[in-house]
Amino acid sequence: MAAATPFIEVADAIVECGGKDLTLCYQCATCTGSCPWGYVEPLNMRRLIHLAQLGLEGYEGEDLWRCTTCGTCTDRCPRGVAIIDLVRAIRGMMGETGLIPQTLRSAVGSVRANGNPWSGERKERNAWAEKLEVPRFDASQHEYLLFGCCMPSYDPRSRKVVQAATKVLRAAGVRFGVLGSDESCCGEAVRKIGSEEVFGSLVASNGGLFTAHGVKKVIALSPHCYHTFKNEYPEQGVKVEVIHISELLAELIGSGKLTPSKPLDATVTYHDPCYLGRHNGIFDPPRQVLQAIPGITFKEMIRIRESSLCCGGGGGRMWMETKRGDRFSDLRIPEALAVGATVLATSCFYCISMLEDSRLTSGCEDKIEIRDLTELVAESLG
Ligand code: SF4
Ligand code: SF4
Repeated sequence: MAAATPFIEVADAIVECGGKDLTLCYQCATCTGSCPWGYVEPLNMRRLIHLAQLGLEGYEGEDLWRCTTCGTCTDRCPRGVAIIDLVRAIRGMMGETGLIPQTLRSAVGSVRANGNPWSGERKERNAWAEKLEVPRFDASQHEYLLFGCCMPSYDPRSRKVVQAATKVLRAAGVRFGVLGSDESCCGEAVRKIGSEEVFGSLVASNGGLFTAHGVKKVIALSPHCYHTFKNEYPEQGVKVEVIHISELLAELIGSGKLTPSKPLDATVTYHDPCYLGRHNGIFDPPRQVLQAIPGITFKEMIRIRESSLCCGGGGGRMWMETKRGDRFSDLRIPEALAVGATVLATSCFYCISMLEDSRLTSGCEDKIEIRDLTELVAESLG
């Protein structure tokens, strides 16, 4: 009996760290069967949860860091187990003992030191806004804070999206500003990696900034920022109204404030990002936007909406190597080509990055383009 005590303590600690549903799981394996890893190299979430119920005795670290937090399994679990919270809790415990992949340790370290996970200098954050002459947010003049996310500050491909967003918002007469290098990462990824303490410090920092500047409404370009501000900041007392750019574009087009007029002559399909679609139910606005652009023929792929295929970049996977043949995004390109698409549109920086990589490494450069829907709207404004 004495030998079992430490394992019981580990299971209790997982529950205390946020994995409150640990004992709810009755081992049906629906999660394992639902997981997109099943298309490439299966991830056995049922077994991981069973090991956690037993205090992680026999755990070898095989599956924990592969979960992309896509949410497919949580949607389908018959017991309603909050599986992603369990993953976060176990990762947090592993992180405390130092058992965390080196690349994730570096990403969390960079967030702590620089306010972003890309080892970019803080002063570079939102430098794009100066070049585009986007003003500093002023509550007396601006309705919205445009929260650009870390990606456009440090990734050239993502910067094109924020440039397009700026053009489109200006064309529609939206009053918006940015908060320059004072702003920090929203913290979505570090929380999923298991670093609750760093997440808490980001909430406090960004929350303090919002309060100091009188920010009431935020436009999020990333579904990950959107999800975090909407669903996770309020848990820690920070409440702002947040709208994703796809929702705002649909509203602006619907009300006649924005009119895409230049025909684009393309067959376009849409990839639902997990954190916009499955996690937050935003399926229709991006499709309404695409269908409002003249010249576009819109086609759906086989896996859409709640059943959309994860790009593979969530849950910290953006900072981990996934070998060729195991990348979900490699499967998505042929699915888009199969419906005759010349453009695979989406609305997430991570998805764009993963899909662009797959497009290039699978030799499909000349067959299909990866575009954010904001870029397509900007192009259609002429
Ligand atoms: S689907 Fe739910 S109940 Fe079934 S094994 Fe997975 S977590 Fe447990
Ligand atoms: S959240 Fe997604 S990647 Fe993680 S175990 Fe569930 S289905 Fe698999």
